Amino acid sequence: MQAVSNDNYNSISNSVVKYEDFQRVVKNQNIDASRRIRMILVEGKLQSWGRAATVIKILDNDLNKDDYPECTLEDVIEAVRNCTGDKAAALVYLSEECMTCYSKFPKSKIRSLGTCTCKLCIGCMKSYFLIAIREKFVREWSCPICNLPDLDDEKKSDGYLPFLTLLLPTLLEPDIIELFLERLKDWHLQRDPKFRWCEQCGNGFLWEAGERNLAMTCPHCKKKTCFKCKKQWDAHHDGLTCEEYDQWRIDNDPDNQAHGLARHLEANGIDCPKCKRRYDKTKGGCIHFSCPECRHEFCSGCFNQFYHNNKHSVHCKQNGLHCHHPRDCFYYLRDNNIDQLKRLLVDQNVTFNEIEPEHQEDKKHCPVMEQKDLGQKEEACNKDVEVGCAGLCSNHYKEYLVGLINKHKVDPASILTNAELKICLTRHDVPTKHTDRPTLLETLSPWHVEADVRLPK
Ligand SMILES: [Zn+2]
Ligand SMILES: [Zn+2]
Ligand SMILES: [Zn+2]
Ligand SMILES: [Zn+2]
Ligand SMILES: [Zn+2]
Ligand SMILES: [Zn+2]
Ligand SMILES: [Zn+2]
Ligand SMILES: [Zn+2]
Repeated sequence: MQAVSNDNYNSISNSVVKYEDFQRVVKNQNIDASRRIRMILVEGKLQSWGRAATVIKILDNDLNKDDYPECTLEDVIEAVRNCTGDKAAALVYLSEECMTCYSKFPKSKIRSLGTCTCKLCIGCMKSYFLIAIREKFVREWSCPICNLPDLDDEKKSDGYLPFLTLLLPTLLEPDIIELFLERLKDWHLQRDPKFRWCEQCGNGFLWEAGERNLAMTCPHCKKKTCFKCKKQWDAHHDGLTCEEYDQWRIDNDPDNQAHGLARHLEANGIDCPKCKRRYDKTKGGCIHFSCPECRHEFCSGCFNQFYHNNKHSVHCKQNGLHCHHPRDCFYYLRDNNIDQLKRLLVDQNVTFNEIEPEHQEDKKHCPVMEQKDLGQKEEACNKDVEVGCAGLCSNHYKEYLVGLINKHKVDPASILTNAELKICLTRHDVPTKHTDRPTLLETLSPWHVEADVRLPK
């Protein structure tokens, strides 16, 4: 049995008997049982003779067994009190298994995280959060056993993180708690819709004016960044919307003149929807993006979250790493041919570039700079330029067209095949066979999809 500090000895306050004497007498099987029971009854403040007798029975018969290595006399008294004297229940209470180290502990030394029923001993809980707070991203601070809750889900993190702020100060040293609170503060700050990073010095801040004044001045370096398109502010943006400014750059910027749409694609990089960090990256082949700033995993086409197995709703039938892309995500649209994509834009009167820039150095090869992974050296795409693709390869030109399709919220339902329309409906649990529309199983109308499965705003 472990030594117990007097701090843990509150249950036996106002005692006239010395603590050591109490321990010694109660545990000594050679001393008359009724004397031991009376002592427990008085000192342990148990409500009946029977309960005090149960404590003695557990001490004499059970505590020496392997199942209760961490139990103190106080634990036994507490267990009996909580289980109103039921010995079997008290023994269960005294031998909860930690799901990390598989040792058994009294319930008082086991903790859970509020949102799941996983049980960890205080020691395992401490060492897990010590490492998590120092080395992991806040979104990875979920339960080490079941990985729940999904902290990218704001509703769930709003329930879980305040729970941690109550639990952890009872387990960890103040300097770690300070770091914990600091990191939590940054996490919340980055989730504020008014939070932005300065494009020039990397400082993060809240821009209270929001969209009312797009030209944000960084409080640190005093330089300006656009609140919406996140480009360094230049005077040509004054009085223009981001889309107009974008088009101005395509048409007039000397840099764009030489590099055409390649610069446009690079400059309209990827924005992390969670921490708002901006990456000058084209979408390239892989649209699964993992943010180096906050580790949020999302689709760079539709900005929806990527899920791992068992990470979200029970209704989802997909396994493994996946994302719920809407039908206008680049993930689907890149499978269409260029003429189909152009048709969508023409139908909506959206103009687009087709002619290669006059001054493009190498007219035969796609100049878009690509970075396979962050941190790696950039290289030009170099694939063959296709006719009518504004000096780009077909992949990068599709990326440009889909960018316009998304920007102008064009619904691609009209170019989907019947099979694709059907997938759209079933994916959203909309019946493909309506009794009032009996022919739908054979031929689905794009209008049906447009009306029943609305594109996200
Ligand atoms: Zn443990
Ligand atoms: Zn859990
Ligand atoms: Zn700055
Ligand atoms: Zn802008
Ligand atoms: Zn991020
Ligand atoms: Zn997507
Ligand atoms: Zn899913
Ligand atoms: Zn290319």
